[in-house]
Amino acid sequence: MRTQRQVVDYSLQKRAVLRELLAGRIGTYDVCDASPYLKNAARFHGEPTDHRCPICRSENLTHVHYIYGDELKQSAGQARTRAELPVLAMTLREFQVFVVEVCPGCDWNHLVEQFLLGRDGLAGEAEDADESVAANGSTPRRRREAQR
Ligand SMILES: [Zn+2]
Repeated sequence: MRTQRQVVDYSLQKRAVLRELLAGRIGTYDVCDASPYLKNAARFHGEPTDHRCPICRSENLTHVHYIYGDELKQSAGQARTRAELPVLAMTLREFQVFVVEVCPGCDWNHLVEQFLLGRDGLAGEAEDADESVAANGSTPRRRREAQR
């Protein structure tokens, strides 16, 4: 996503959890504890992936995108489909997205990553576009719209 920034990746933490599980230091009941809310969010707003669940290996994981930020008002904390995010990113200045993977089979769930989206992320992009203005005469604004 174009305005995506400040990405925090949680794959190391996930691997650590899976290691603990493999070593028997934690049980599946500790990690396969998706709440009814999370499972509903996955069903109605989730993004299917082709990644197998690392626990049960019988279902593919679903990604749920939760959005947070003052500008969202009462929508803060809600799940959104991935397709809705670029639209929000063009209307809001800044909001936080948390991506959670959920297994519909065994209820495994883990934070995948978090990042910021929103129009504030376009400021740096406009500067980058300066070179192309000289090259092809189009304004950064027009160039951005052409990319959409
Ligand atoms: Zn599973």
